[in-house]
Amino acid sequence: MRKRWIGWSIFILIVLFIGLYLVLKDSILSINRSRKVMAFLRHPEDYGEVILPACSRCEEVPFILPTEGMIGFIWDDSFRPGHHHTGIDIFSGQEVGTTAVYAAYDGYLARQMDWKSSLIIRIPSDPLQPDRQIWTYYTHLADPFGDSLIVADFPPGTSEVFVTAGTLLGYQGNYSGVYGKPTGVHLHFSIVKDDGKGQFLNELEIRNTLDPSPYFGLSLNANENPDHIPVCNQP
Ligand SMILES: [Zn+2]
Repeated sequence: MRKRWIGWSIFILIVLFIGLYLVLKDSILSINRSRKVMAFLRHPEDYGEVILPACSRCEEVPFILPTEGMIGFIWDDSFRPGHHHTGIDIFSGQEVGTTAVYAAYDGYLARQMDWKSSLIIRIPSDPLQPDRQIWTYYTHLADPFGDSLIVADFPPGTSEVFVTAGTLLGYQGNYSGVYGKPTGVHLHFSIVKDDGKGQFLNELEIRNTLDPSPYFGLSLNANENPDHIPVCNQP
């Protein structure tokens, strides 16, 4: 009888450990990446080899890099259990409002009335799957107090303004969405799916976004690239 209880206890403990590991696995992997981002932000001048130039392209891919910097966090990184990062975070290592942000691909720009730091660009035909519409979302283009760093050409309420790849959109900021509580200076960029009726889906859910790797020719999926800083021609 006693032996059976010991057996069961060991079994339950193993199941609990496996469960805990599965829940925390992604977050543990992202800690390595967080360390690299912190080190970069302290001394960006030491990390020239991982700073990708704005408007550059790794290979024959559709998108140009929308801003200069180190790609600190990638698609499906996890900042806490259950969280899935929906895009890529490009850190310039520069001050708020100094690093330009450009359109990654041609499309129709919109900015909702209450968007202080965000823009979205509708791409009617996905260059990698032409029968569908996709959206590219850009955010953190404001200072810690929500003062916008988006250029005056695209005020709140802008809709369906055609822009070509490389059009200046604004500057990297650190607005977190909460007044006076800044994040690190960076651009968050994501590719958002369409609902099939011409509207973008909720960008906060990873299932509504696309792995940006093939659009940039970079290893931008955390499931395939657990802790390397993405650069061109990585194995
Ligand atoms: Zn982000």
